[in-house]
Amino acid sequence: MAATESAPPPIDTSRPHPARVYDWFLGGKDNYPVDEELGRRILELEPHARRSAHSNRSFMHRATRWSAAEAGIRQFLDIGTGIPTEPNLHQLAQATTPDARVLYVDNDPIVLAHAEALLRGRPEGVTQYAQADVREPHKILDQAARVLDLRRPVALSLIALMHFISDEEGAYELVDSLVDALPAGSCLVLSMITGDYDPGTMERAVQTYAAGGVTLVARSHAEVARFFTGLEVVEPGIVSLPEWHPELAVGEDVQGDAPVPLYAGVGIKP
Ligand code: SAH
Repeated sequence: MAATESAPPPIDTSRPHPARVYDWFLGGKDNYPVDEELGRRILELEPHARRSAHSNRSFMHRATRWSAAEAGIRQFLDIGTGIPTEPNLHQLAQATTPDARVLYVDNDPIVLAHAEALLRGRPEGVTQYAQADVREPHKILDQAARVLDLRRPVALSLIALMHFISDEEGAYELVDSLVDALPAGSCLVLSMITGDYDPGTMERAVQTYAAGGVTLVARSHAEVARFFTGLEVVEPGIVSLPEWHPELAVGEDVQGDAPVPLYAGVGIKP
């Protein structure tokens, strides 16, 4: 495991945490009553929330397969990894490219507590975990430089992460500084929630998360596109999750064709 610079804070079970609420939506066991309570409130507002979570996970599968197989990328920097849920990103990448190098990053101590499950990669490859916050891109890049060769293309995945970071916290500048540090041929893989399909429900969901102490920012298509400034967005563009290369699904349900309130896109650095 990559060294963490300080002992992680203890797991706080008095308030909901995004990684654990998402785990609850996915049907995982690594969540607490506060997380389930927030999850159930969201389900009351949006009965399809579980489908959105599964659809997001499935996008991660397809985008990782695409990055490894179609774009030939051999190194992965996954920020906002989440609690391990099989298949994890390194398993998908190393299925195509056994010697793929993967650095996982998350700021939640519960992910660190489960990181062992993330580190059982192929012996030919490298799989590491670092506890860090996306709001500290320089710390992440320092860790990345120890695990990855930053002169060669990297797939940077920020999947269901940036909706936890507001513009005021520097969401766009953070992504820019991470992308700036990567060479041509690298790609940005991104998904995040949007209110474009159902603004009223999304507004209530944002308020429900806020009442639980979690900042959630829904962004429009144009606002999501701004994260890809300077990148070549690959076909089919920035689309609702199920529309992004459904043909790359292997044995998993792409959760139908109906849009879900998250946009997904992949951009290549020219
Ligand atoms: N990327 C995974 C998990 C998404 S859930 C997937 O798509 O399946 C969002 C994850 O982002 C959680 O694990 C949460 O702990 C993490 N996260 C939230 N804010 C973060 C921050 N500021 N820095 C790093 N990780 C963060």
